[in-house]
Amino acid sequence: MYGARTFRPPMSAKRARTKRSTCVRFESILAPSFLHSQTMKNHFKDLCRNCSLLILVCGALLLSTLPFQCALAESDRQLTLDDVKKFLDPKDLAPAEREWLTGKVKAETGLENPRPMPKKQQRKISKAFENGSASEYSVQDLIDAGVFTFRPISNVHPKAPTSDEDKSLLNRDGKDIEVENIVWGKKLVPATMNYGVMHSTEDGYADAAKTIDIWNKDCSEGKRSSSTPFVLGRCLHGRDILVTADFEKRWQRHCSSKLTAKPNVVNWNSIGVEMEHSTEKNIDYTKAETKEAARLWTYIQQRAKLSDNNIVTHGELQGHLPKDHKSYRTDPEGFDWDLFAKEIIRLRKRNKYEPAASDSSSIKTKPQLAIEKASGKN
Ligand SMILES: [Zn+2]
Repeated sequence: MYGARTFRPPMSAKRARTKRSTCVRFESILAPSFLHSQTMKNHFKDLCRNCSLLILVCGALLLSTLPFQCALAESDRQLTLDDVKKFLDPKDLAPAEREWLTGKVKAETGLENPRPMPKKQQRKISKAFENGSASEYSVQDLIDAGVFTFRPISNVHPKAPTSDEDKSLLNRDGKDIEVENIVWGKKLVPATMNYGVMHSTEDGYADAAKTIDIWNKDCSEGKRSSSTPFVLGRCLHGRDILVTADFEKRWQRHCSSKLTAKPNVVNWNSIGVEMEHSTEKNIDYTKAETKEAARLWTYIQQRAKLSDNNIVTHGELQGHLPKDHKSYRTDPEGFDWDLFAKEIIRLRKRNKYEPAASDSSSIKTKPQLAIEKASGKN
């Protein structure tokens, strides 16, 4: 090292002056803080003006891309429970964060917070829902009208499953499932929803918002969580239908696509509705909740053009499994089928509505049997 310095060709006086002044300035900024050894000082003295400039330019370039990199990471990440809470109560948010959350929630769920709607129109839509004739209105319209309450969920699926395991389910038992409207990739095109699945939460919360919060919490913690587009509360203070995502644009995981007794019913072609109830904690359905379930299913059935035979219970899909199996299900448990079916028939008569014809070769489902019984057909 020392020898190399000895044989360096002599510098011109001007060049030596320039080099010294640059390095001395550089040293004067950094040296007092952490550079004390003579060796380090000598190294800095060797830095030429061009090197310093290059480092500065590179640093500036790197810094300038930081916001872009952060934005990319931000747009890709999943919504957390914290995000959802902020979205529902955005008053303390900075405008940029509020804007990001609104866009992210809409991109994930296909829905947004209630948009302004004249009171008269709100009353009209609300009345139509009550009377079982709201099928011309979208889920967003019903949110705008105040019939549904929006509480976003993070684990929704805007596309058909892409894993080989899931793809193989499309052809299980030699039956092709209707998939032409499901678009592979990230295009947000509605999947065909051919089935409805009735559930009861059995989580003991007796609170639809709490049920959704727990789904979001599980998801935030990286746990595999299920969810449904609709969660029906106990209607203790009136309307209590919570919506997590638009069932016409997203699918959600709410039943087993592998262990089902009905192979045609899978997550990405079925609409799930959870109802607050717990057998274990003695939390029963209220009458208002059961009647609201009838109104909600009337809306879904008309909107998605489902036959009675295409509405099933979670118990019918997974009740054939051994009782100690982790996927064994019997819900909705303890449901008042007579009251539910009577209300469905009342709405149908009022609107002269006849659902799509059921497949007569298929085994009758629990909801179908209850509706037939209430209409005097069996
Ligand atoms: Zn269930």
